[in-house]
Amino acid sequence: MPRLAPPTWPVPSDLTASCSCGSVKLRVHGTPIAGVVCYCDDCQEGSRQIEALPNAAPVLEPDGGTPYILYRKDRVRWSAGAELLKGCKIRGESASSRMVASCCNSAMYMKFNDGRHWVPIYQARFSTPAPPLEMLICTKFRQASHEFARDLPSYPGYPLKFMAKLIAAWIPMLLSRRNT
Ligand SMILES: [Zn+2]
Ligand SMILES: [Zn+2]
Repeated sequence: MPRLAPPTWPVPSDLTASCSCGSVKLRVHGTPIAGVVCYCDDCQEGSRQIEALPNAAPVLEPDGGTPYILYRKDRVRWSAGAELLKGCKIRGESASSRMVASCCNSAMYMKFNDGRHWVPIYQARFSTPAPPLEMLICTKFRQASHEFARDLPSYPGYPLKFMAKLIAAWIPMLLSRRNT
């Protein structure tokens, strides 16, 4: 399997993520928090369930990873078709729903019901060049039958580098809330 080139920054500041038929669109502003490929068992299962829907575009990579681009919640805006979204939960009590555009069964983003300040958007929804990926996370859940598709640093769980990026994105959000 050819290995993909390492990421390049900076990312253009305004981008659109679109479902495959174009009815659902969201606009993102600013630099993403991070670009990660997640191999956790929930993401593997979630991506598999979405891919099993009729005519769904693929989201799971051959090595079992799902690529996401994480944005601050306040930097994501709907521009079309929000009413077409439906949430898929792997388990009834789960705090996260995978939001799918019902028009064409495209996986759009992950919605958290527990106040997390970031939104993981499926990288497949961005037209090329999509925001770059930087690391592979939760690789301990991966079945090792396939070689990694991407030549990126890999971590068995959530690395400190990733947590630091999430916290660094959160601080200005807290401060701006306090000042308004
Ligand atoms: Zn669509
Ligand atoms: Zn995951």
